[in-house]
Amino acid sequence: MNNIKLALLGSQGAGKSAVLVRFLTKRFIGEYASNANSLYRKRLSIDGRQLNLEVFDPCSQGTEARCILEEPVDWADGFVVVYNINDRTSFINAENILHQIRETRMENSKGEFEVPVCLMGNKQDLSHVRQVCEEEGRLLAQENRCLFQEVSAAESYQEIDSLFTRLIRDMMEH
Ligand code: GDP
Repeated sequence: MNNIKLALLGSQGAGKSAVLVRFLTKRFIGEYASNANSLYRKRLSIDGRQLNLEVFDPCSQGTEARCILEEPVDWADGFVVVYNINDRTSFINAENILHQIRETRMENSKGEFEVPVCLMGNKQDLSHVRQVCEEEGRLLAQENRCLFQEVSAAESYQEIDSLFTRLIRDMMEH
């Protein structure tokens, strides 16, 4: 049985818990207690292979991400970095987090992360008040050679499910 350790990183309020709960339960729950670190465990089957998924959802990550991130960055086998498309500060924070993952978890000779990473621009349902255009997200992901998609934890399960599944598949192959 594969054990897969995933960390969710991003600014507080970007929708990390919402995205994760959407993936794990298919539901959107409006508010979560986010004053504690959470570790979720779930048994999954992907491509007929059974795996134990552990997801670390740290309680709060401001722009001073370094010390808060050290623990999950060392622990995880893969990362989901979430920003809110309506909050440019969360996008800048995502950029810093990607940089820090790269510093800590070294790239291979092709400039790719040694661990699979996925960037999610959340709250796409609020795109009429967006501060970050989709192209910027795509470019940031290209620069970091990671998966990318805009998603809405509030309105859609499909994109979130397929992104998590692609990431976990990559992690199983690593
Ligand atoms: P976290 O601090 O990153 O874990 O963020 P939460 O998951 O607690 O979400 C922060 C707030 O954003 C909550 O009020 C959520 O209901 C809301 N939220 C999360 N995802 C979405 C989304 O896709 N669309 C909208 N409109 N609100 C969302």
